[in-house]
Amino acid sequence: MASLRASLKKEADVIVIGGGVVGALVLRALSKYRLRVLLLEKGNDFASGVTRANSAVIHAGFDPKPGTKKAKLNVLGNAMFPSLCAQLNVPYIPLASLVTAYAEQEEETLALLLAQGKEYGVPGLSILSRKEILEKEPNMARTAVAALYAPSSAIVSPWEVAIGAVENACQNGAEALRGRTVTAITRENDRFIVTVQTTEGQEVYACRCLVSAAGVVADDICRMLTEPDYKITGRRGHYFVLDKQAAGLINHILFPCPSAKGKGVLILPEYHGRIMIGPDSESIDDKTDTATVEEGLARVKEAAASYLSVPIPWRYLIRTFSGVRPTPSTGDFIIRKHPSVPGFVEAAGIESPGLASAPAIAQEVERLVLDVLGGAAQKDFDPVRQKYTAKPEKKDNTLVCRCSQVTRGQIRDAIAGPCGARTVKGVKLRTGTTAGACQGGFCLPDIVSVLSEELHIPKEQVLYDGPGSNLLTGPTRRGEH
Ligand SMILES: Cc1cc2nc3c(=O)[nH]c(=O)nc-3n(C[C@H](O)[C@H](O)[C@H](O)COP(=O)(O)OP(=O)(O)OC[C@H]3O[C@@H](n4cnc5c(N)ncnc54)[C@H](O)[C@@H]3O)c2cc1C
Repeated sequence: MASLRASLKKEADVIVIGGGVVGALVLRALSKYRLRVLLLEKGNDFASGVTRANSAVIHAGFDPKPGTKKAKLNVLGNAMFPSLCAQLNVPYIPLASLVTAYAEQEEETLALLLAQGKEYGVPGLSILSRKEILEKEPNMARTAVAALYAPSSAIVSPWEVAIGAVENACQNGAEALRGRTVTAITRENDRFIVTVQTTEGQEVYACRCLVSAAGVVADDICRMLTEPDYKITGRRGHYFVLDKQAAGLINHILFPCPSAKGKGVLILPEYHGRIMIGPDSESIDDKTDTATVEEGLARVKEAAASYLSVPIPWRYLIRTFSGVRPTPSTGDFIIRKHPSVPGFVEAAGIESPGLASAPAIAQEVERLVLDVLGGAAQKDFDPVRQKYTAKPEKKDNTLVCRCSQVTRGQIRDAIAGPCGARTVKGVKLRTGTTAGACQGGFCLPDIVSVLSEELHIPKEQVLYDGPGSNLLTGPTRRGEH
């Protein structure tokens, strides 16, 4: 015990494992109480997992199976999103969705979804005729027979929600550490002892209540304490992103009729005004493998080919990516106090509609943690996130990213503060740099320079994202980087 105390880095009331949208919102929810709350995130930035690569839709909530947590929390989360995004100072774009039937037999599915959605309390649902569809979506395929119209859906920037929530939690006294991979957990005298690997070595933390919000590896985290009674399988989905020149191709979030595999391939505008097409669905062995493979991309292309009456303008393609769904063997979100490990709270198997449900999931986890620990409210909790900015003398309106119109000063702002960007990818998540048509071809050297200046590190040490992703190896022959 004496040696443990000596190596213990910090003692907290609650440790949250994982800084995706769920862990981030849990941290923020718990920062309302007089509790010492600490978040440990494996990545060099928050939103390093599923939250970074998904469709970014705040689903209306009509399609989860009846009686599931998904059904309850999607509708609740959807209603919480507008004010949440306003408080966190992050974009929220209301955008109706259409689930289209391309054959008469699919109309039955639409009727079922309509009835189900009404029962769940989804507002404004209606069935559109072909004529009404074409008024809203002139490029829709003429084979469309009817569509379920859901005006309460929206698009957001999921990683900005997570980053904003962590930042707001920290402004209310919580702590969040990046580059901390939890590798072992033991229980000693009613405390959890959490061992963490960093690039510098090991650290040990202790807490009374442990929350797992670890995405695709939630079952592996559980296994550190006890054999999990569920399994998380990785299901990868690929996307294409078309540049802003393709904007106007569609005006809504377009879904086909859902199948046993899920919601199907979507065509939707993303919040920067580009068009996203995806995802497919394939089970993979390595749950962290976000490589894009030809067959997956081909599946997306094939599925989307029949949605519209005009060809998809693939000439505007700027990138492809994939995300991995943490699909639970239970078929539903697992949000609970673990039945045999007192003080262990899980938010596991948070696949779609996990983003839309995230604020409601966090609320449920908050209740479970309070059941374990109690907790007096912190009277001066401020739900409004104050955005950090660089020092006034560092204001600089020089345009760095022409695609997303980002200045050098805005990049400095993105790096500012304890939760600011520390990598090129981190700058991208906060500002949109390198996400446009040039994909960093023009702006990358400038971003590396600003990171180097602001973080006071040589350019060779600037990382793209994770450990070892250095972009530069040394000076060129002319002595320039
Ligand atoms: C293709 C696809 C499309 C989707 N589309 C939508 C959609 O449109 N709408 C919607 O509502 N939902 C959607 N989802 C689901 C949604 O993205 C997820 O439900 C949500 O992002 C899950 O967030 P999370 O915080 O639980 O997980 P994550 O974001 O994965 O967060 C877990 C975090 O834990 C960290 N971590 C892992 N291991 C450790 C460790 N050992 N120590 C410390 N930290 C660790 C990870 O780095 C990660 O940052 C989609 C998902 C996919 C894959």
